[in-house]
Amino acid sequence: EHTGDKPRRVLLKLSGEAFGGGAVGIDTHVVRRIAGEIVTAVDQGVQVAIVTGGGNFFRGAELQQAGIDRSRGDYMGMLGTVMNCLALQDFLEQEGKATRVQTAITMGQVAEPYIPLKAIRHLEKGRVVIFGAGAGMPYFSTDTVSIQRSLEIHCDEVLMGKNGVDGVYTADPRKHADAKRFASLSYERALVDNLAVMDASAMAMARDNDQRIRVFGLEGEGNVTRALLGEQIGTLVSS
Ligand code: UDP
Repeated sequence: EHTGDKPRRVLLKLSGEAFGGGAVGIDTHVVRRIAGEIVTAVDQGVQVAIVTGGGNFFRGAELQQAGIDRSRGDYMGMLGTVMNCLALQDFLEQEGKATRVQTAITMGQVAEPYIPLKAIRHLEKGRVVIFGAGAGMPYFSTDTVSIQRSLEIHCDEVLMGKNGVDGVYTADPRKHADAKRFASLSYERALVDNLAVMDASAMAMARDNDQRIRVFGLEGEGNVTRALLGEQIGTLVSS
């Protein structure tokens, strides 16, 4: 929980969809915009760590449907997340921010290995830390990794940036016009009612360790900055 004297530290999850702008590959306009919004918040003293998804390149489960071994497909998915890290890193560096990419699969030429204490030091120095390659393990998701990294490096909140939806609703707002957005809800309700915020293993890990999550929409101009600064947009999931 964030208290007044400690700087705010957050874990921002950006899905692959955010990087691809809905297509395969990188939509540089979107990534540049998000990078700019991150810089605005970092300049105001927020410590920002990021976990990137990779669905804009590969998802292991989809590759499996196409006949590729599940674990190998998952590794392909994890490698995709690293390309997103590098794209975001580039735009942040262009804006004059110091960054470090840390990956769960070692690849010394492009990133540091994941070393939690080092990540914390980077954050304390005002560097943006971008975590890639998920957990380095097949059968995991970057949502679950977001909760895990946030717990390990002691973030106040996980900020789940979403495309096409700006919080958690009573039903899918794209299908039900009368769906209502929750301002807040419990882990239990999200799990039991199967409200599609993130995968169940991520939600269960958050519940078991009391990790606050804010689900918000990435699309509105300034939303990323608002979420990073702690504005109460979207939906808060907590105990
Ligand atoms: N993945 C994995 N282990 C992890 C994280 C990711 O195997 O710890 C693989 C998995 O195949 C997944 C893909 O990487 O489908 C891309 O990640 P994810 O689907 O979580 O990205 P997003 O949906 O956020 O774009």
